[in-house]
Amino acid sequence: MHPPPPLSDKPLAPGLYIVATPIGNLRDITLRALDILNSADLVAAEDTRVAAKLLSAYDIKAKVRRYDDHSDEAARGEILARLAAGERIALISDAGTPLISDPGFRLVAAAAAQGHDIFAAPGPSAALAALAVSGLATDRFLFAGFPPPKSQARRTAFEDLANVRATLIFYESGPRLADSLNDMSDMFGDRPGVVARELTKLHETIVRGRLGELSDRFRGAPPKGEIVVLVGAGQDEVALEADVDQALQTALTRLSPSEAAAEIAKAFGLRRKDLYRRALLLRPPQPETE
Ligand code: SAM
Repeated sequence: MHPPPPLSDKPLAPGLYIVATPIGNLRDITLRALDILNSADLVAAEDTRVAAKLLSAYDIKAKVRRYDDHSDEAARGEILARLAAGERIALISDAGTPLISDPGFRLVAAAAAQGHDIFAAPGPSAALAALAVSGLATDRFLFAGFPPPKSQARRTAFEDLANVRATLIFYESGPRLADSLNDMSDMFGDRPGVVARELTKLHETIVRGRLGELSDRFRGAPPKGEIVVLVGAGQDEVALEADVDQALQTALTRLSPSEAAAEIAKAFGLRRKDLYRRALLLRPPQPETE
């Protein structure tokens, strides 16, 4: 038996709390999430049975009511009325961060429009967990949720994203994975991809490869469990680095490192500061001064 979690007895301010919950490993919950779930007047949950399991795992007794964005206006109206009365409402989804491919957007938009306080209780989200372990660039990324299930619509959706210079993040299901990867390979080109499966769970697996390879690999062997697919940014970064180095070296034959960095940064849309450091490394050896 685990010791009970150290819950805070500090009173909770009135408002709507967006509470992230584990995406697999039950220990991935924050102490603050437990405080909020324990003290809230109501827990609004995507599925009350899933919520009951979660709450009982932490020995929290809370009043739970089902809420998803398809709930009728009356259900949303009731939560808004409770907020207006000064209650503390926690919103949770079945896993991860509410609103991220999960219900909550309409409620948050309505609560914000009515001027209620909305508090974040951040925690797991499969998209960010997958990005962090992917090995793909993290400086710019675009989360695109679930691709359309039908190939034609999916290809159109991918076409719209083909020129985005950012790591792309999708949620996908096992049975659709190979077809989806194949459409990605056709529409994005054979970029690097990552399939992150069952994150934080017993069968956590990360598979890296080119999109075409990945599609072949999973065809005929659709993986079980939950999946995030990530696609490397539009331009091949290794090639880009080589091109930048080449351009810097040429510029350094006629310019100082700082001028060369400025010129090439502008040409490639990169940061001058980064290129200056690179230019110092690439410039020809300097004659020694006395
Ligand atoms: N709100 C959740 C979040 O913050 O990640 C996402 C909910 S969405 C309905 C569920 C999808 O998220 C799954 O079909 C899968 O694509 C992805 N997902 C959720 N948990 C995952 C996990 N442990 N490993 C990999 N993907 C996961």
